[in-house]
Amino acid sequence: MEPLQIFKKVGAIITDTHVVYASGKHGNAYVNKDAVYPHTKDITSLCSMLAKEFAGAGVEIVAAPTIGGVILSQWVAHFLSELDKKEVLAVFAEEETSSSGDKKRFFKRGYDKLIPGKKVLVVEDILTTGGSAKKVVDAVKELGGTVLGCGVLVNRGGVKDSDVGAPIAALVNIKLEAWNESECPLCKKNVPVNTDVGKGREWLSKRK
Ligand SMILES: [Zn+2]
Repeated sequence: MEPLQIFKKVGAIITDTHVVYASGKHGNAYVNKDAVYPHTKDITSLCSMLAKEFAGAGVEIVAAPTIGGVILSQWVAHFLSELDKKEVLAVFAEEETSSSGDKKRFFKRGYDKLIPGKKVLVVEDILTTGGSAKKVVDAVKELGGTVLGCGVLVNRGGVKDSDVGAPIAALVNIKLEAWNESECPLCKKNVPVNTDVGKGREWLSKRK
């Protein structure tokens, strides 16, 4: 099955809809990354595809941001170990406020000792702005690791390599359209609002 079909099957990507986002803007598609993790067979399929993208590249460690990324890093490292016929490790980085007051990602639990001098693949589920992935890339670089790439399930924000600081390989690229309510073409065409996902239900009840 193609990656996009898998995401649609589990309801992680809904297209051709009329949705109200948390921001209040209206759009035609919805991405819910949490919908894919309960489906373990689908997760392993997707992680196998990601691993194939980086097979033979010399990856020694797969690193991800918490929480969903932990699952991805485990499975991608598992499949890369099989493909490259050597042990590829999996680690994760947690978010903490740094001494300068901004939120950063840190490898704790002894994982920081594994990174120096190693070739690292960063994995992430959904890129919206690329912020979390970038923080993991930065954390690897600060520890003296080399980031070979950033493997992601879905790039939904048109995020570029320069936004995360590493070459991105995405299984699915989807550009979500978002409009202010007054300019929403779907409202103009009286397309019913999706009340199952996003803030459609609240939006409808406010209008009544
Ligand atoms: Zn609308």
